[in-house]
Amino acid sequence: MKGKIVLADAMGYCWGVRRTLDIIQRAGRPDNQIATIGDVIHNPQVVQRLRQAGVQTAETVDDASSQGFQQVAITAHGASPKRNQRAEDLGLSMVDTTCPLVTKVQRLAQKLVKQGYFIVVYGDAGHPEVRGILGWADTSRAVAAKHVEDLPWNAARGRTASDDQIAPPRKVAVISQTTKIVDEFLAFTRNLTDLVAREGGEIRVCNTICAPTTERQNAIERLSEQVDAILVIGGRKSSNTARLAEVARGHGVISYHIECERDIDHSWLRDITNVGITAGASTPDDVIEGVIDHLAMHGYERPTSHAWQSEYDLEHEPAY
Ligand code: SF4
Repeated sequence: MKGKIVLADAMGYCWGVRRTLDIIQRAGRPDNQIATIGDVIHNPQVVQRLRQAGVQTAETVDDASSQGFQQVAITAHGASPKRNQRAEDLGLSMVDTTCPLVTKVQRLAQKLVKQGYFIVVYGDAGHPEVRGILGWADTSRAVAAKHVEDLPWNAARGRTASDDQIAPPRKVAVISQTTKIVDEFLAFTRNLTDLVAREGGEIRVCNTICAPTTERQNAIERLSEQVDAILVIGGRKSSNTARLAEVARGHGVISYHIECERDIDHSWLRDITNVGITAGASTPDDVIEGVIDHLAMHGYERPTSHAWQSEYDLEHEPAY
């Protein structure tokens, strides 16, 4: 026996994604197909399975309508309220599977706007979740940014030396896309505080990174103390999987991003005794099982528990 396979104690589908898949599969039927607006999940095997269950994908509500769909679904990322309105205008029924943790951020953005804050959403400007949050904020006094250089300000409050320097307003609130890395969010907020909190400025920092994301990042930290290398499983286009690999490397452990067991290069494991496994939020359980089976066939001892799979139960949602 070479060594052990050690699983991260939180990995794979987050409960928000399990919940979305559950709701959409119940809604889609071969005789009444449903179109999700945008991908439910960045995983080709899952998309294929959903198609067979009567769940298709459309780019926009208008596309879904012109393709003859009667019902459309909002994915876990949520969407701007304008999308609901458009679906209603087109006579489509809407299945809203927005993750409740995203809904909380949308409501928070609205509340902060009412309190007079300029809103900064730390995240990817083109991501559907960020676009949805900005849609709910419904104000011109909001912006998405990943770096302070992306902000519309180039000088700290009280430090504008020329007309082309723009300082932030007095009240700024920062919230995060739910899937970001906590340390990077905090580094961003420190830089933003430097810009805002001088000369009477007020900054409000709301860490809205969701608990399942934080748990997965913390689980990698624990995993990295027990293993010599980590395989991070997830679609090549899955940015949260790529981020998990970054987090693992940040803890000083060799880590490889693989889509499935076929991507494993056995030269990676030559001097590796214990190998860790984690997976992105869009990685199905059977793909993770495939990697475990493959490593077991090559002499690694199987893990005793598959506890990560029991994380979600539609009837008993966790109280995050
Ligand atoms: S990553 Fe977090 S916010 Fe996004 S769907 Fe999963 S649980 Fe919900």
